[in-house]
Amino acid sequence: MKALILAAALLATPALAHQQQPANPYGDDNANWVRPIKPYRVVGNIYYVGSEGLPAWLITSSEGHILLDGGPSTDGGKLVERAIQQLGFQLADVKILINTHAHFDHAGGLAVLKADTGAKLWASRLDKPALEAGHHIGFNSNGPTPFPAVKVDKSFGDGTRLRLGENQLVAHLTPGHSIGCTTWTMAVTEKGRPLNVTFNCSMSVAGNQLIDNREHRNIVADYRATFATMRSLPTDVMLPSHEEQGDLVAKRERMLRGDANAFIDPTELARLTDRYEANFEKELARQEAAAGKAPR
Ligand SMILES: [Zn+2]
Repeated sequence: MKALILAAALLATPALAHQQQPANPYGDDNANWVRPIKPYRVVGNIYYVGSEGLPAWLITSSEGHILLDGGPSTDGGKLVERAIQQLGFQLADVKILINTHAHFDHAGGLAVLKADTGAKLWASRLDKPALEAGHHIGFNSNGPTPFPAVKVDKSFGDGTRLRLGENQLVAHLTPGHSIGCTTWTMAVTEKGRPLNVTFNCSMSVAGNQLIDNREHRNIVADYRATFATMRSLPTDVMLPSHEEQGDLVAKRERMLRGDANAFIDPTELARLTDRYEANFEKELARQEAAAGKAPR
């Protein structure tokens, strides 16, 4: 959510509609959010169908496919659709849409994807209201950052299993970044080798108000529980919701150069969690100091 302020301003300020808009509405910083790249198989039956900077993951089976995240907008959703088709899969075979979290950069394309695939949307109970309202819920210095609202067909809680064909995904609620942030895990086999895959939700503060957030009262405890949850998930392959959180472009290049293990790193999620926890505690201390509160 780097350029949220700009994006929110563009979406929410009618006056801007009459002015010259940049070619990329998310700002130059996030040009890679709408830059197409060649889709590819990552491990097992998991395919990368996102843009260069914003992942979307297709998990295929003989009974239909699951799609995780939908890009930042209707255009972003269309980019995901083209990537699915480029791989030779049919949009109509996408049966279930899931979402790491109800922020515009991951949920903005879900409405068009749902309309074009006919898939059912599953979302955590706590992110459902944000998806259906089409904006972030919880005080955030970037504002509500609107996106096309989308109807949720099934809402779920922690530990829910999603089964489709040969696939079984488990939902782990990892709130903080959004109130219903969901991390998904599944097991795959790559060339006879069993691998635990984690699709981790974001852990950054990204403008969230950590003190007296009346729309997300447990936000501090939620973040801290999430750091513990992330460390508890056995993970060989970490597939995050932003490219830079997992250096996905570099891994893909290593894969193309012949490194079959480019995406396998059993220590990566713990290291990422350490980094975000340190950032979180620093930002919490900053917000507490600004609010004149003693550290908790
Ligand atoms: Zn986010």
